[in-house]
Amino acid sequence: MSSIAQNIQHIENEIPGTTKLIAVTKTKPVSMLEETYNTGFRRFGENKVQEMSEKFNLLPKDIEWHMIGHLQSNKVKYMAPFVAMVHSVDSFKLLKEINKEAKKNNRTIACLLQIFIAQEETKFGLSAEEAEEILQSTQLGALTNIKIAGLMGMASNTEDPEQVRSEFHSLKTLFESFKQYNNERVDMQELSMGMSGDYMIAAEEGSTLIRVGSAIFGSR
Ligand SMILES: *Cc1c(COP(=O)(O)O)cnc(C)c1O
Repeated sequence: MSSIAQNIQHIENEIPGTTKLIAVTKTKPVSMLEETYNTGFRRFGENKVQEMSEKFNLLPKDIEWHMIGHLQSNKVKYMAPFVAMVHSVDSFKLLKEINKEAKKNNRTIACLLQIFIAQEETKFGLSAEEAEEILQSTQLGALTNIKIAGLMGMASNTEDPEQVRSEFHSLKTLFESFKQYNNERVDMQELSMGMSGDYMIAAEEGSTLIRVGSAIFGSR
């Protein structure tokens, strides 16, 4: 078995059945994605629209593509034909743009609201209040080609596992409380949290999607 296959199997054996693994392939060559695909794996994450689109064009079409990186509205059109889920929605404007481009493609695109949970200045995301405003917006009903499928967050980049755990725990609590807003547009199902350094803590705190790159493919 290749080391990629071994690493994926190792992680999948560690996490509960309710948590799904996304292989984060950003910066990795197409040959590595092909190798991953050939192990039977289908769920890939990228953080740049152009790189994801180039890889989409070169690879088999049954791959599930997850956009996990910060997104500019003017790039949405390039991925709207194929992206399965956008994890990094951090404004109502972006949500409207995704809806517009999804509609042109006759699709519904699953979106996660990215919530700021880390004690750092550098990470993107919405506050709990801003996310709640989006979920309560009367304009949401008109966005017929998106579904808000859950929340995404990144913990602080710290050596302190209890700090990380408490950040994931607070995101899980918010996720559960936002289920009160479930309706035609909102279906709080997915909680995207956990990366190479903290996916076990995230899984223990209720993550349904972990985004793992370097623990599968080596450092970037
Ligand atoms: C790169 C990236 C990951 C994966 O990071 P690793 O530490 O390599 O597992 C996860 N989520 C986001 C948003 C990323 O940009």
